[in-house]
Amino acid sequence: MSQILDYLLDRQPAMIQMVEQLVRLESPSADRSAVNAVVGFLADAFAALGAGVERLPQVAFGDHLRVTWGQGDRQVLLLGHMDTVWPVGELARRPFQISKDPDIGLQKATGPGVFDMKGGLVIGLYAVSALRDLGLRPAHRLVFLFNSDEEVGSPTSRTLIEEEAVRSDAVLVLEPSSENVLFLWRKGVGRFELEIQGVASHAGAAHDRGVSAIEELAHQVLRLEAMTDYGRGTTVNVGVVRGGSKSNVRPASAWAEIDLRVMTAEEGERMVQAILGLQPVNPKATLIVSGGLNRPPWEISPQGEALFERARRVGARLGMELWAGGTGGGSDGNFTAALGIPTLDGLGVVGGDAHALTEWIDPASLPRRAALLAELILDLGQ
Ligand SMILES: [Zn+2]
Repeated sequence: MSQILDYLLDRQPAMIQMVEQLVRLESPSADRSAVNAVVGFLADAFAALGAGVERLPQVAFGDHLRVTWGQGDRQVLLLGHMDTVWPVGELARRPFQISKDPDIGLQKATGPGVFDMKGGLVIGLYAVSALRDLGLRPAHRLVFLFNSDEEVGSPTSRTLIEEEAVRSDAVLVLEPSSENVLFLWRKGVGRFELEIQGVASHAGAAHDRGVSAIEELAHQVLRLEAMTDYGRGTTVNVGVVRGGSKSNVRPASAWAEIDLRVMTAEEGERMVQAILGLQPVNPKATLIVSGGLNRPPWEISPQGEALFERARRVGARLGMELWAGGTGGGSDGNFTAALGIPTLDGLGVVGGDAHALTEWIDPASLPRRAALLAELILDLGQ
């Protein structure tokens, strides 16, 4: 039996309590001061463990937090995000709660952001707590980067993450996963805006003089959706449309927001060109397309597989049977893996239904996943 796992199993109630505290600090990406409350909480908690804590002030979003613990010339980077997709007030509708699921007989903790990814923040903290209290010294210095803008594509933290990643032997991402699964790949993510300009006219008196931007948009929506190719793992989702002004006016403008997912860098290039190169069906309409990939595809690599293999062996010693997986959802691991740094993701809490009202975690996974993380950190020095 692992002394780290023993230590953490004893602390499961405290871990759950800390998850509850973090869930109660609601932190939507767009609410700077709300996210900064999480920054303050984590800064204090890590400082209490003797870690070096550096708050990196931001203007547009909440601050980012860099935490350094341990010695060593070489470092391991751990990534987590403090923001969630839930607005302030969601907690009142859906308070933190632990209950037994009658269907599967399993305890579940629920609440906004509990799975993605407040549970993972607690796992990172308690992994350090276990190493410290048990006097275990990893060969690597640990650097945690907690960012405030992951859920909106990490616009202000990407450079920071990449700079820290190139100094690191490995990157461990504390995003959540399902039981026994770790992530070795993630699709690349693109975001585009399509603006269509037509010509307004009276719908009754001068129908033929107008150019309907909405009609043109309808053609383009079908074109875009038809670019989806499940066989290649490529998906296009026209997620938002707007257009027109009044029912008796030929619409002069329409607009759409588009999400793209791709498996490989090559496919990403092909699809970005296809979307940016859209041509109008009605030559009298004008298309203005902007956007591109905001997270590069994270493709399976030998370094990533080797890192997973290490985690699999460590997990087996703890009685976990870990599987390699991947997902269409992007994370900050996309940035570090695309730089060629060995990256492993899904090391956070176990549960399901990210970004959904039914989001949940398995509280029993908190000590087990923190033990996996701490043991993996030690094993990286072997
Ligand atoms: Zn997340």
